[in-house]
Amino acid sequence: MHDIIIIGAGTAGLSAAIYALRAGKSVLLLEQLSYGGQIINTPEVENYPGIKNISGFDFAQGLYEQATALGAELEYAKVTGITDGAEKTVHTEGKDYSCRAVIIATGAKNRPLGLPKEQELTGAGVSYCATCDGAFFRGRPVAVNGGGNTALEDALFLSNYCSKVYLIHRRDAFRGEAKQAEQLKAKENVEFVLNATITELVGEEELSAVIVTDKQSGEKRELAVDGLFIAIGQMPDNAAFASLVDLDPAGYVVAAEDCKTRTEGIYAAGDCRTKTVRQLTTAAADGAVAALAACAYIG
Ligand code: NAP
Repeated sequence: MHDIIIIGAGTAGLSAAIYALRAGKSVLLLEQLSYGGQIINTPEVENYPGIKNISGFDFAQGLYEQATALGAELEYAKVTGITDGAEKTVHTEGKDYSCRAVIIATGAKNRPLGLPKEQELTGAGVSYCATCDGAFFRGRPVAVNGGGNTALEDALFLSNYCSKVYLIHRRDAFRGEAKQAEQLKAKENVEFVLNATITELVGEEELSAVIVTDKQSGEKRELAVDGLFIAIGQMPDNAAFASLVDLDPAGYVVAAEDCKTRTEGIYAAGDCRTKTVRQLTTAAADGAVAALAACAYIG
């Protein structure tokens, strides 16, 4: 029996663990993949207040070490549901765990383009993580799809060692930071392909090209690339909690800035929660808010 079970060991979950442990509560983190969450795939973080520059991996490692040094326990398991009651039971594929309060900090996973062959070519040219797979494409042409911070960072990262980087975006304005778009514009091996969507992946065993369609003219263009990095945002994965918390139409857990869900003692923190700004800072802030609310609930 733990005081608090935190589902997900990303920035929100680990921040919640730090706050709950410092408040004297026992904490179990349940994580299905690896600790650190999405930020481990970000080459450089330059907008976390107080830290001028750090790799996403080092940032996550620091959080993990801070939480475990305080006594956080971490188990790898996929949570399949929660049962409410005097105590709460968190169900996983292999085992059930009891606790007094639960913090859902499941983050979000990469959104696929939904194109034919996308799954088959994943790992054979198609990737969702430039930091993990970019090095395989040294000296070769690649494309990045998306217009947010992830796509801009990925394109910048890849432009340092790929022969050519096409940045394909469905609009002519980027959602990501202007500073990075300006840096990309100045790179000779980067070409913006704007107002365009990828409509076909070419290649049998390995990706050899993408077909892009101009949204205004309908004109098609084949871009010969060995790699495609898809960075078109994330999707939440909260269906397992739908009996105890409300989900919005996109699947995010409905909770306001106090991180409270419709069930007492169950909180939502970080990217899995309905919110407008999904950043490291807001994930860490949610972790603190949810943990302190859970501590107050437990008493
Ligand atoms: P995002 O900001 O949601 O951007 C997704 C991009 O993909 C948008 O440009 C969107 O186009 C495009 N898109 C969405 N669905 C598409 C589809 N079906 N086909 C083609 N394009 C599609 O996602 P993100 O870049 O992964 O960033 C997620 C959050 O993490 C953001 O808040 C971001 O600021 C943050 N982040 C922060 C850092 C950092 O602080 N260092 C690094 C990475 C990410 P539209 O613009 O037209 O909607």
